[in-house]
Amino acid sequence: MIAGVQKITDCTASVEYSASNHSLFMQKKITMDTKQKLKVFAAAMLALTLSGCATRQAETEERDGYFASHAFKASAQNERVRFLVMHYTALDDKESLKTLTQQQVSAHYLIPKDPELRQDKPVVLQLVDENKRAWHAGVSSWNGRTNLNDSSIGIEIVNPGYTDNMLGHRTWYPFGEKQIAAIAALAKDIMHRYQIAPDNLIGHSDIAPLRKQDPGKLFPWARLAAMGIGAWPDSPTVSRYLASRSPSAPAEVGVVQALLKQYGYDQIPQNGVLDQATQKTISAFQMHFRPDDISGNADAETEAIARALVEKYRGITMPVLAKGKANAV
Ligand SMILES: [Zn+2]
Repeated sequence: MIAGVQKITDCTASVEYSASNHSLFMQKKITMDTKQKLKVFAAAMLALTLSGCATRQAETEERDGYFASHAFKASAQNERVRFLVMHYTALDDKESLKTLTQQQVSAHYLIPKDPELRQDKPVVLQLVDENKRAWHAGVSSWNGRTNLNDSSIGIEIVNPGYTDNMLGHRTWYPFGEKQIAAIAALAKDIMHRYQIAPDNLIGHSDIAPLRKQDPGKLFPWARLAAMGIGAWPDSPTVSRYLASRSPSAPAEVGVVQALLKQYGYDQIPQNGVLDQATQKTISAFQMHFRPDDISGNADAETEAIARALVEKYRGITMPVLAKGKANAV
Protein backbone atom coordinates (compact mmCIF):
# COMPACT_ATOMS: atom_id res chain seq x y z
CA MET A 1 0.00 0.00 0.00
CA ILE A 2 2.64 2.52 1.05
CA ALA A 3 4.89 1.41 -1.79
CA GLY A 4 2.05 1.98 -4.31
CA VAL A 5 1.37 5.50 -3.04
CA GLN A 6 5.04 6.28 -3.15
CA LYS A 7 5.38 5.16 -6.74
CA ILE A 8 2.60 7.47 -7.89
CA THR A 9 3.97 10.37 -5.86
CA ASP A 10 7.48 9.88 -7.16
CA CYS A 11 6.47 9.63 -10.79
CA THR A 12 4.24 12.70 -10.51
CA ALA A 13 7.16 14.60 -9.05
CA SER A 14 9.33 13.58 -11.97
CA VAL A 15 6.74 14.62 -14.53
CA GLU A 16 6.40 17.99 -12.81
CA TYR A 17 10.14 18.43 -12.95
CA SER A 18 10.14 17.58 -16.66
CA ALA A 19 7.27 19.92 -17.40
CA SER A 20 8.92 22.80 -15.57
CA ASN A 21 11.97 22.40 -17.77
CA HIS A 22 9.81 22.24 -20.82
CA SER A 23 9.57 25.97 -21.49
CA LEU A 24 13.34 26.48 -21.30
CA PHE A 25 13.88 23.49 -23.46
CA MET A 26 11.46 24.78 -26.08
CA GLN A 27 13.04 28.24 -26.12
CA LYS A 28 16.44 26.81 -26.88
CA LYS A 29 15.17 24.67 -29.72
CA ILE A 30 13.31 27.33 -31.66
CA THR A 31 14.71 26.10 -34.95
CA MET A 32 13.00 22.73 -34.63
CA ASP A 33 9.64 22.16 -36.17
CA THR A 34 6.71 21.37 -33.94
CA LYS A 35 6.78 17.66 -34.65
CA GLN A 36 10.50 17.38 -33.86
CA LYS A 37 10.05 19.41 -30.71
CA LEU A 38 7.26 17.24 -29.47
CA LYS A 39 9.24 14.12 -30.22
CA VAL A 40 12.34 15.34 -28.37
CA PHE A 41 10.29 16.66 -25.47
CA ALA A 42 8.41 13.39 -25.14
CA ALA A 43 11.67 11.41 -25.12
CA ALA A 44 13.24 13.75 -22.58
CA MET A 45 10.18 13.60 -20.38
CA LEU A 46 10.12 9.81 -20.52
CA ALA A 47 13.81 9.63 -19.65
CA LEU A 48 13.41 12.02 -16.74
CA THR A 49 10.30 10.22 -15.56
CA LEU A 50 11.97 6.85 -15.70
CA SER A 51 15.14 8.04 -14.00
CA GLY A 52 13.06 9.82 -11.36
CA CYS A 53 10.97 6.76 -10.68
CA ALA A 54 14.03 4.52 -10.63
CA THR A 55 15.81 6.79 -8.16
CA ARG A 56 12.89 7.18 -5.82
CA GLN A 57 11.82 3.55 -6.09
CA ALA A 58 15.21 2.58 -4.66
CA GLU A 59 13.99 4.21 -1.44
CA THR A 60 11.44 1.44 -1.18
CA GLU A 61 13.38 -1.38 0.36
CA GLU A 62 12.36 -4.98 -0.20
CA ARG A 63 12.57 -7.06 2.92
CA ASP A 64 11.51 -10.55 3.88
CA GLY A 65 7.80 -10.65 2.99
CA TYR A 66 7.17 -6.87 2.78
CA PHE A 67 8.44 -3.56 1.44
CA ALA A 68 9.52 -0.60 3.60
CA SER A 69 9.10 2.80 1.99
CA HIS A 70 11.49 5.53 3.08
CA ALA A 71 9.50 8.21 1.25
CA PHE A 72 8.49 10.15 4.38
CA LYS A 73 10.38 11.16 7.49
CA ALA A 74 8.94 12.18 10.84
CA SER A 75 10.25 15.42 12.29
CA ALA A 76 9.82 14.15 15.88
CA GLN A 77 12.96 12.08 16.36
CA ASN A 78 16.34 12.27 18.02
CA GLU A 79 19.45 10.19 18.47
CA ARG A 80 19.28 7.12 20.70
CA VAL A 81 22.84 7.81 21.84
CA ARG A 82 22.82 10.55 24.49
CA PHE A 83 25.82 9.69 26.66
CA LEU A 84 29.49 8.92 26.16
CA VAL A 85 31.02 6.87 28.96
CA MET A 86 34.76 6.57 29.66
CA HIS A 87 36.41 3.57 31.31
CA TYR A 88 39.82 2.16 32.00
CA THR A 89 40.32 -1.55 31.61
CA ALA A 90 42.66 -2.22 34.58
CA LEU A 91 44.23 -4.83 32.28
CA ASP A 92 47.01 -4.84 29.70
CA ASP A 93 46.43 -4.71 25.93
CA LYS A 94 46.19 -8.44 25.42
CA GLU A 95 43.91 -9.14 28.38
CA SER A 96 41.76 -6.09 27.63
CA LEU A 97 41.14 -7.26 24.09
CA LYS A 98 40.49 -10.82 25.18
CA THR A 99 38.06 -9.77 27.90
CA LEU A 100 36.19 -7.26 25.76
CA THR A 101 35.83 -9.59 22.79
CA GLN A 102 35.32 -12.99 24.42
CA GLN A 103 33.57 -12.42 27.73
CA GLN A 104 30.24 -10.99 28.83
CA VAL A 105 31.48 -7.41 28.76
CA SER A 106 32.20 -5.16 25.82
CA ALA A 107 32.64 -1.56 24.70
CA HIS A 108 32.19 0.16 21.40
CA TYR A 109 35.82 1.25 21.32
CA LEU A 110 39.10 0.15 22.87
CA ILE A 111 42.08 2.47 22.97
CA PRO A 112 45.33 0.48 23.29
CA LYS A 113 48.16 1.48 25.63
CA ASP A 114 50.28 2.73 22.74
CA PRO A 115 47.93 3.31 19.79
CA GLU A 116 49.41 2.65 16.36
CA LEU A 117 49.70 5.80 14.27
CA ARG A 118 48.58 5.85 10.66
CA GLN A 119 49.19 9.11 8.77
CA ASP A 120 49.86 10.67 12.18
CA LYS A 121 46.42 9.65 13.41
CA PRO A 122 45.89 7.11 16.22
CA VAL A 123 44.20 3.82 15.41
CA VAL A 124 41.45 2.84 17.86
CA LEU A 125 39.74 -0.56 17.89
CA GLN A 126 36.00 -0.56 17.26
CA LEU A 127 34.61 -3.72 18.84
CA VAL A 128 30.86 -2.99 18.65
CA ASP A 129 28.92 -1.07 15.99
CA GLU A 130 27.66 2.25 17.33
CA ASN A 131 24.05 1.29 16.58
CA LYS A 132 24.42 -1.83 18.73
CA ARG A 133 24.34 -2.00 22.49
CA ALA A 134 27.68 -2.70 24.19
CA TRP A 135 27.78 -4.10 27.73
CA HIS A 136 29.97 -1.60 29.53
CA ALA A 137 27.90 0.41 32.00
CA GLY A 138 26.00 -2.21 34.05
CA VAL A 139 23.61 -0.92 36.71
CA SER A 140 23.94 2.80 36.24
CA SER A 141 22.16 6.14 36.30
CA TRP A 142 22.83 9.71 35.32
CA ASN A 143 20.63 12.78 35.47
CA GLY A 144 17.33 10.92 35.46
CA ARG A 145 18.36 8.11 33.12
CA THR A 146 19.07 4.56 34.17
CA ASN A 147 20.68 1.55 32.47
CA LEU A 148 22.99 3.64 30.35
CA ASN A 149 23.97 0.73 28.10
CA ASP A 150 20.72 1.51 26.26
CA SER A 151 21.62 5.07 25.42
CA SER A 152 25.39 5.40 25.45
CA ILE A 153 28.59 4.68 23.62
CA GLY A 154 31.35 3.22 25.76
CA ILE A 155 35.08 3.76 25.37
CA GLU A 156 37.53 1.51 27.22
CA ILE A 157 41.11 2.70 27.61
CA VAL A 158 43.97 0.37 28.45
CA ASN A 159 45.34 1.56 31.79
CA PRO A 160 46.31 -0.37 34.93
CA GLY A 161 44.00 1.72 37.12
CA TYR A 162 45.61 1.78 40.56
CA THR A 163 47.61 -0.29 42.98
CA ASP A 164 47.63 -0.08 46.78
CA ASN A 165 50.80 -0.74 48.76
CA MET A 166 51.10 -2.43 52.16
CA LEU A 167 50.52 0.90 53.91
CA GLY A 168 47.34 1.52 51.97
CA HIS A 169 48.89 4.20 49.77
CA ARG A 170 47.21 4.24 46.38
CA THR A 171 49.12 4.81 43.14
CA TRP A 172 47.21 5.79 39.99
CA TYR A 173 48.68 5.32 36.53
CA PRO A 174 48.67 8.13 33.96
CA PHE A 175 47.27 7.87 30.46
CA GLY A 176 49.75 8.18 27.58
CA GLU A 177 49.88 11.23 25.33
CA LYS A 178 48.95 9.14 22.28
CA GLN A 179 46.03 7.72 24.21
CA ILE A 180 44.88 11.22 25.19
CA ALA A 181 45.09 12.31 21.54
CA ALA A 182 42.99 9.29 20.57
CA ILE A 183 40.46 9.91 23.37
CA ALA A 184 40.09 13.55 22.31
CA ALA A 185 39.62 12.82 18.60
CA LEU A 186 37.18 9.97 19.23
CA ALA A 187 35.14 11.81 21.86
CA LYS A 188 34.97 14.99 19.79
CA ASP A 189 33.75 13.09 16.74
CA ILE A 190 31.15 11.02 18.61
CA MET A 191 29.83 14.01 20.57
CA HIS A 192 29.52 16.01 17.39
CA ARG A 193 27.80 13.27 15.42
CA TYR A 194 25.22 12.51 18.13
CA GLN A 195 25.01 16.06 19.49
CA ILE A 196 25.84 14.79 22.99
CA ALA A 197 25.56 17.49 25.65
CA PRO A 198 28.90 18.34 27.38
CA ASP A 199 27.60 17.17 30.77
CA ASN A 200 26.71 13.80 29.25
CA LEU A 201 30.38 12.97 28.71
CA ILE A 202 30.91 11.00 31.90
CA GLY A 203 33.01 8.37 33.60
CA HIS A 204 31.91 4.94 34.75
CA SER A 205 32.41 6.16 38.33
CA ASP A 206 29.98 9.05 37.70
CA ILE A 207 27.16 6.70 36.70
CA ALA A 208 27.96 3.87 39.15
CA PRO A 209 29.86 5.59 42.00
CA LEU A 210 29.25 2.86 44.55
CA ARG A 211 30.77 0.14 42.37
CA LYS A 212 33.31 1.83 40.11
CA GLN A 213 36.37 4.08 40.22
CA ASP A 214 37.22 4.18 36.54
CA PRO A 215 38.45 6.03 34.57
CA GLY A 216 40.22 7.25 37.74
CA LYS A 217 41.60 10.49 39.08
CA LEU A 218 44.24 10.84 36.33
CA PHE A 219 41.75 10.79 33.46
CA PRO A 220 42.32 14.08 31.57
CA TRP A 221 38.88 15.64 32.08
CA ALA A 222 40.32 19.16 32.44
CA ARG A 223 42.47 18.84 29.31
CA LEU A 224 39.54 17.56 27.30
CA ALA A 225 37.34 20.39 28.56
CA ALA A 226 40.03 22.89 27.55
CA MET A 227 39.70 21.43 24.04
CA GLY A 228 35.95 22.01 24.17
CA ILE A 229 35.13 18.39 24.99
CA GLY A 230 32.88 17.79 27.99
CA ALA A 231 31.70 19.82 30.98
CA TRP A 232 33.85 22.00 33.23
CA PRO A 233 32.99 24.69 35.78
CA ASP A 234 33.99 28.29 35.09
CA SER A 235 36.67 29.45 37.57
CA PRO A 236 35.07 32.87 38.33
CA THR A 237 31.80 31.12 39.17
CA VAL A 238 33.58 28.69 41.48
CA SER A 239 35.31 31.62 43.20
CA ARG A 240 32.01 33.45 43.58
CA TYR A 241 30.40 30.45 45.25
CA LEU A 242 33.47 29.77 47.36
CA ALA A 243 32.83 33.23 48.78
CA SER A 244 36.26 33.60 50.40
CA ARG A 245 35.95 30.36 52.33
CA SER A 246 39.01 28.13 52.53
CA PRO A 247 38.67 25.41 49.85
CA SER A 248 39.10 22.74 52.50
CA ALA A 249 36.61 24.28 54.94
CA PRO A 250 33.82 21.86 55.83
CA ALA A 251 30.57 22.25 53.92
CA GLU A 252 27.15 20.99 54.89
CA VAL A 253 26.81 17.41 53.75
CA GLY A 254 23.12 17.85 52.96
CA VAL A 255 23.89 20.81 50.69
CA VAL A 256 26.53 18.88 48.75
CA GLN A 257 24.20 15.86 48.51
CA ALA A 258 21.45 18.05 47.05
CA LEU A 259 23.82 19.73 44.58
CA LEU A 260 25.28 16.47 43.33
CA LYS A 261 21.80 15.06 42.84
CA GLN A 262 20.82 18.17 40.87
CA TYR A 263 23.86 17.78 38.66
CA GLY A 264 23.27 14.12 37.79
CA TYR A 265 24.35 11.80 40.62
CA ASP A 266 20.81 10.48 41.05
CA GLN A 267 21.53 7.84 43.66
CA ILE A 268 23.32 9.97 46.25
CA PRO A 269 21.47 9.82 49.60
CA GLN A 270 19.66 12.96 50.76
CA ASN A 271 20.04 12.44 54.49
CA GLY A 272 22.62 15.04 55.50
CA VAL A 273 24.98 12.28 56.68
CA LEU A 274 28.42 11.47 55.26
CA ASP A 275 27.62 7.78 54.98
CA GLN A 276 29.56 5.40 52.76
CA ALA A 277 27.32 5.91 49.72
CA THR A 278 27.60 9.69 50.04
CA GLN A 279 31.37 9.61 50.49
CA LYS A 280 31.87 7.34 47.47
CA THR A 281 29.66 9.57 45.32
CA ILE A 282 31.42 12.76 46.43
CA SER A 283 34.74 11.01 45.71
CA ALA A 284 33.52 10.12 42.19
CA PHE A 285 32.58 13.78 41.66
CA GLN A 286 36.00 14.89 42.94
CA MET A 287 37.81 12.40 40.66
CA HIS A 288 36.10 14.11 37.75
CA PHE A 289 36.28 17.78 38.78
CA ARG A 290 38.76 18.14 41.66
CA PRO A 291 41.27 15.27 41.44
CA ASP A 292 43.79 16.78 43.90
CA ASP A 293 41.65 15.61 46.81
CA ILE A 294 39.30 12.70 46.30
CA SER A 295 38.72 11.95 49.97
CA GLY A 296 34.95 12.14 49.52
CA ASN A 297 34.60 14.76 52.25
CA ALA A 298 32.08 17.56 51.80
CA ASP A 299 34.31 20.64 51.60
CA ALA A 300 33.71 24.20 50.46
CA GLU A 301 35.54 23.83 47.15
CA THR A 302 33.57 20.72 46.23
CA GLU A 303 30.36 22.56 47.07
CA ALA A 304 31.41 25.61 45.01
CA ILE A 305 32.36 23.47 41.99
CA ALA A 306 29.03 21.67 42.23
CA ARG A 307 27.17 24.98 42.38
CA ALA A 308 29.08 26.30 39.37
CA LEU A 309 28.21 23.17 37.37
CA VAL A 310 24.55 23.28 38.39
CA GLU A 311 24.43 26.93 37.33
CA LYS A 312 26.16 26.31 33.99
CA TYR A 313 24.49 23.07 32.93
CA ARG A 314 21.21 22.98 34.85
CA GLY A 315 20.48 26.69 34.62
CA ILE A 316 20.03 27.12 38.37
CA THR A 317 21.70 30.16 39.89
CA MET A 318 21.86 30.31 43.69
CA PRO A 319 22.40 33.30 45.94
CA VAL A 320 25.76 33.56 47.63
CA LEU A 321 25.19 34.10 51.32
CA ALA A 322 27.34 35.71 53.96
CA LYS A 323 31.05 35.00 53.98
CA GLY A 324 32.00 31.75 55.66
CA LYS A 325 28.48 30.36 55.70
CA ALA A 326 27.46 27.35 53.66
CA ASN A 327 24.41 28.49 51.75
CA ALA A 328 21.28 26.46 51.28
CA VAL A 329 20.43 24.89 47.94
ZN1 LIG B 1 34.18 0.75 33.57
